[in-house]
Amino acid sequence: MKVVRTVADLRTALSPGPGRAPRIGLVPTMGALHDGHLSLLAAARADCDQVVLSLFVNPAQFGRGEDLEKYPRDEASDIATAEAAGVDLLFAPQPEQIYPDGYDTWIDPGKVGTYLEGTARPGHFRGVATICAKLFLLVKPQRAYFGRKDAQQVAVVKQLVRDLELPMEIVACPTVRDADGLALSSRNVFLSPEERASALALPRALQAGLAAHRSGSDAVRAARAVLDAEPGLRVDYVAEADLDGPTLAAAVMVGSTRLIDNVLLDAEA
Ligand code: AMP
Repeated sequence: MKVVRTVADLRTALSPGPGRAPRIGLVPTMGALHDGHLSLLAAARADCDQVVLSLFVNPAQFGRGEDLEKYPRDEASDIATAEAAGVDLLFAPQPEQIYPDGYDTWIDPGKVGTYLEGTARPGHFRGVATICAKLFLLVKPQRAYFGRKDAQQVAVVKQLVRDLELPMEIVACPTVRDADGLALSSRNVFLSPEERASALALPRALQAGLAAHRSGSDAVRAARAVLDAEPGLRVDYVAEADLDGPTLAAAVMVGSTRLIDNVLLDAEA
């Protein structure tokens, strides 16, 4: 596995050799790799000749007062994990590589980026869309892999690829969960054992919402009832939306940690 840290070295590492151009699969991440990330890498490995992983805690997608500084970072461990997962090329830039002095171009998603996470985190999807567009233009993958865990992000990135007519495909992979149902997230390390117990109300609420939907009643009401019964968390939103398919999505604060999760409402039982 090759590790590169600059745009120039990334371009060199990607320059095609003689013969057929490889099929490139890109997995963009913020690092602190877990099994959710590994599932994206496995999907890319199965489909593509060359797997490119980016590790970049993108300052542009964090708002003022959010957890940019304390976001978990463990590059040495991520490099070992990526190597074991069969990654060919790892791109781990510093912010100055991506946003050099004078950088001033932003991609602003439309309606799909304005509600739910877009309301709770103004500017978040502008940062996401901008870094994804930069990575797509630099790496020129045939496919880029994203997790359904961040369903609105999938919807934003698909809209970006469609609107800018980028010649690539976005692949949405299922959410990977711990045995207790909690969706894997780099932020789960912040949860104390008590907070983790409270956080389990989030997947429970979504399952209750899904069951209600299947029996013809209101998914949002059913999910909210479960969340409201858990004193250890504060509900940010519970809502149905078309996020790359009809989705029940929720965000909660558990202590100072913000967690999001969702279920597809039209998935097979
Ligand atoms: P992050 O490093 O949190 O920005 O996530 C990088 C990619 O991994 C995004 O496409 C996420 O949606 C995806 N991802 C994060 N957690 C999970 C999970 N539990 N299951 C599947 N994909 C995930």
